[in-house]
Parts: sequence; C-alpha cells; structure tokens
Amino acid sequence: ASEFDAWFDQATAVDTLDDPAPATLDARAVSAWFGDHKVLDRVSLTMPAGQVTALIGPSGCGKSTFLRTLNRMHELVPKASLAGEVLLDDVDIYDASRRITDARRQIGMVFQKPNPFPAMSIQDNVLAGLGLTGRKLDRASRTDLVEETLTKAGLWTEVKDRLRQAGGGLSGGQQQRLCIARSLAVRPRVLLMDEPCSALDPTSTRRIEQTITELANDVTIVIVTHNMQQAQRVSDRCAFFLAEAGTPGAIVEHGPTQDMFENPQDPRTSDYVNGRF
Ligand code: ADP
Ligand code: MG
Repeated sequence: ASEFDAWFDQATAVDTLDDPAPATLDARAVSAWFGDHKVLDRVSLTMPAGQVTALIGPSGCGKSTFLRTLNRMHELVPKASLAGEVLLDDVDIYDASRRITDARRQIGMVFQKPNPFPAMSIQDNVLAGLGLTGRKLDRASRTDLVEETLTKAGLWTEVKDRLRQAGGGLSGGQQQRLCIARSLAVRPRVLLMDEPCSALDPTSTRRIEQTITELANDVTIVIVTHNMQQAQRVSDRCAFFLAEAGTPGAIVEHGPTQDMFENPQDPRTSDYVNGRF
C-alpha cells in the first residue's frame, strides 16, 4: 500500500461542511527518529495562517519527515518516533485526548506522485474523503460540492463534461489537481504538499503554482520543493533545512522568502539558494 493508502485508511468522515478558517501551524522543538537514527533535531517553525511556507534543502535533510510530523503521518511509519509539539491554532495535535483522525481531517496532504483512485470516477475521487457525509448529501449538494471543489483546484473547466470518467484517464498534471481537489473537499485548514510538481511537466507545474497562489487565502499551505524558482514564485516564507555530515536535519535559517533569497544571513543558505550545492 502507498503512503496515501495508509493515510486514507485512517481518514475519517467529515461531519460538517462549514468553511473553516485557515489555521497557524506551530512546530515546537520537533525531533524525529527512525529506530535509533535521529533525522530531525529540535525543529521549531511557525507556519502562519493563510500563507504559503516553502521547505527547502538538499535531499535527505528531513523535509518529508518534518512534513509528516505535521499531520501525524509520521506515526504510520514503522519504527518511527518523535518528540516535541505541533500546535494547530494553539491545540497540540499530539495531545493524548486528540484523535489522530482529527489531525488528518484538518491537515490535508498531497504527495509527489499523483495518486487518485484510478478506476473511480473523477467526481467520486473528489468526494472520496467525505465518507458517510458525502453519501448523505443529496444529488444537488454533491454536484455543487464537486463543481466548487474542482474550481478551487483549477480543474473544473477541463473535466466538467467528463465527471463520470475514471480519474486514471487524466494527464499527470490533471491527476495532481484532482488530488488537490480530493484534499480540499474535506475542508482542511492546512494543506501539506510534498514536491507536488516534481513528477510533472513545466506547463502542469505552472498550473499547480497558480492554484496554490489562489488557494492561499483559504488554507494554510506548507510545500516542500527542490525548485528555487518555484519557492520564490509561490511562497511567502521559506525554511532552509540541512543535515550536515552525520547530524540530524535542522533548520539553518527561515524567514520571508524575499529575505532568504536576497539577503540570506547564513552563508550555507546563500550557497544553497544560489545553486552552489
Ligand atoms: P528529504 O525529504 O529532505 O529528502 P527525508 O525526510 O525523506 O528527507 O529523510 C530524512 C532522513 O530520514 C534520511 O536520512 C532518510 O534516509 C531517513 N528516512 C526517511 N524515511 C525513512 C524510513 N521510512 N525509514 C528509515 N529511514 C528513513
Ligand atoms: Mg522528501
């Protein structure tokens, strides 16, 4: 089963379709391990409501691991453990009294490889995360919800005449926008995206960047990207991760995107954003 399947199996039905406000995510001294191997060391980062935060840094520095700690997906990885706190508008998502499914519901995730349910129709893919609530909606509400959500994901005009066709028949870029729609349909407050454009061509990449920019007022976005131009185009803030020889990943520097690129404080940030390693 893919990472998504593991996440999806634990997702819960939505009990309300109110539009929630975007939330601030606040990671406090998050450390993460796989067995004895420590891969993140006391990472603290505030990802403000309604903004786009980009996580940048070389491969293996812990960006994906950090992203998974933000919606409790890290717990699904064998031998994984974690310390620290993640606050969603001041509520600790790891608090023992909180259900894992609450975090899943409020903090959506889009993966590198588009993963719609290939045999399921486009409209059913959009509604898939709604569980029973989706089934309880009358036909008109479902139709409205599908249109509204696909519009937000920038896919409506391309698929409105083929909603009953299989999701797997779409192009890679369209499949990724369908996955964004599936995440948005459950009304998340935060959307995590792990290199969502790495598997896509430049045109599809720009479409998704445009969608990210349009979504940003309604949902907090945290995006991992290797593409420095993309970080500059879509993000308000950046955090630069690094795992120096034999040490766990940590944030070297974070701040407004413009400062990170035009006036980095640490020479390692400067080297990285200028493509010197
Ligand atoms: P990035 O996304 O920045 O490339 P990752 O978060 O994927 O980095 O990986 C950080 C470190 O954790 C790497 O050393 C990687 O080998 C290790 N790692 C990632 N996933 C697992 C896993 N499931 N089991 C064991 N080690 C892992
Ligand atoms: Mg990664």
